[in-house]
Amino acid sequence: MSMFCFQCQETAKGKGCAVRGVCGKTDEVANLQDLLIYILKGISVYAGEAKEFGIQNERIGSFITKSLFSTITNVSFVPEDFEARIREAFEVREDIKKQLFEAYKAEKGRDYNKELPDECTWYSDDTSDFRVKGASTGILSIEDEDIRSLKELLTYGLKGIAAYVEHVYVLGEKNDEIFAFLTEALAATVDPDKTVDELIALVMRCGEVAVQAMALLDKANTGHYGHPEITEVNIGVRKNPGILISGHDLRDLEELLEQTRGTGIDVYTHGEMLPANSYPFFKKYDHFVGNYGNAWWQQKEEFEKFNGPILMTTNCLVPPEESYKARVYTTGLVAFPGCIHIEDRKPGEQKDFSVIIEHARRCKAPEELENGTISGGFAHEAVMGVADKIVEAVKKGKISRFVVMAGCDGRHKEREYYTKLARELPEDAVILTAGCAKYRYNKLDLGDIDGIPRVLDAGQCNDSYSLVVIARKLAEVFGADDINELPISYDIAWYEQKAVAVLLALLYLGAKGIRLGPTLPAFISPNVLKVLVEKFDIKPIGTVEEDLKAIMAGE
Ligand code: SF4
Ligand code: SF4
Repeated sequence: MSMFCFQCQETAKGKGCAVRGVCGKTDEVANLQDLLIYILKGISVYAGEAKEFGIQNERIGSFITKSLFSTITNVSFVPEDFEARIREAFEVREDIKKQLFEAYKAEKGRDYNKELPDECTWYSDDTSDFRVKGASTGILSIEDEDIRSLKELLTYGLKGIAAYVEHVYVLGEKNDEIFAFLTEALAATVDPDKTVDELIALVMRCGEVAVQAMALLDKANTGHYGHPEITEVNIGVRKNPGILISGHDLRDLEELLEQTRGTGIDVYTHGEMLPANSYPFFKKYDHFVGNYGNAWWQQKEEFEKFNGPILMTTNCLVPPEESYKARVYTTGLVAFPGCIHIEDRKPGEQKDFSVIIEHARRCKAPEELENGTISGGFAHEAVMGVADKIVEAVKKGKISRFVVMAGCDGRHKEREYYTKLARELPEDAVILTAGCAKYRYNKLDLGDIDGIPRVLDAGQCNDSYSLVVIARKLAEVFGADDINELPISYDIAWYEQKAVAVLLALLYLGAKGIRLGPTLPAFISPNVLKVLVEKFDIKPIGTVEEDLKAIMAGE
């Protein structure tokens, strides 16, 4: 069997994974994911037509959201999960088809007889057919390189939006407009008549909807857990056994903290869960100790040393080593063959983490990796709380530039660029960050400017929204017409599809001159790149020396 996937920054040779994913995804899973997306497109075609008859199918939004999220890099590695999801996709498709056909007949007085694409009709109840079909429906089935590039850019943006919307959904909120956009955009990728210009317009709308999704998630998170506060987060360990929680799902963290209260077991965050330490709600738990380790890609070494069980709530899961695999638990959409999966919560109940808690009781305390603290909690409310200080520092020339270094971390050696750049920025430059890119420099001693730390960490990758709120507020304060008039530069690192959504959001908000690294996406064709350069002045990163000079000169 063969596969093709180029959706993340670490794709093989910077071109595409064709035998097995660098991330550990097998060809089997890759092909099943391709088929799942194919059927989602068929569902979306029906949903688009059904909308014209006033039909709203409640099940579709949530199903498409979860399905898209499940195909993001480092989420699920289990073929059986995708088989089950494809079978469910057939049911969902049948359901909306039936509703559409009935409504059509009732209104037109005749049977529905329009020609439908294969995405709407292909079916098999034999799972071995799924793999074969998946292999022929993937990315390379689109021949035109620019159309393929735009459709994939759009699809990856949708995956990112789906991830953020799923977190909102978990907190009991939703937005039908966003669901509607997911189906509209997926259906558009099936339409053979869509022109390059129409697809570019859809990509831009994807950025707009990504902003909506991040704003909604910001509202849901802060509504439930309060506004992040400026916090010194402990990075050392205590002597109790611990549970390590990673990913982005704050509700899982809440329930884990509740269930471990009074058990003598400590809870630590890893990777993208670090910002949870800054939410006031979680500070009431004495056994919530701090953050352990670094970004996702260092988990092999760090999970080994943690000694206790690890709960992965969302991506990014790296295929675990046998030596600690029995300590890795997954939940939500994350799954890995052989790891115990914690089932979803039943209505009105919490997830049951008792098996992890029992496991922790048998474990040694974590081995210390480092000690001390790192600063966090510089989301929009907290930054606005010190806005006067910031404005004064800018006016007095003590802050000459803000450099947005948000995004992702990853394995590639080229990412040392970000550590070097952070270290070598002049002392009057302030870094605004969000996402796991921060681990490249958040433990450097970069000092502060009149009490304002030189690295302001807004939180998870979805909290990049906070950076935009901050930029807009600064523009208001300084009377600038748009954020590009401010002394702000963007040097963004990407890895997976949530970062694609964040990038499109920044473009929609008018950020110009973004440097993107460590390499440009393999799925961007030369012509699409030309458009991005012409419209937004996007550029690849260069050497640290060149970029440093250009950034400080406002280029
Ligand atoms: S997600 Fe990335 S590493 Fe994994 S198969 Fe796709 S391109 Fe390769
Ligand atoms: S910052 Fe990037 S790599 Fe890290 S979780 Fe977010 S999107 Fe994934």
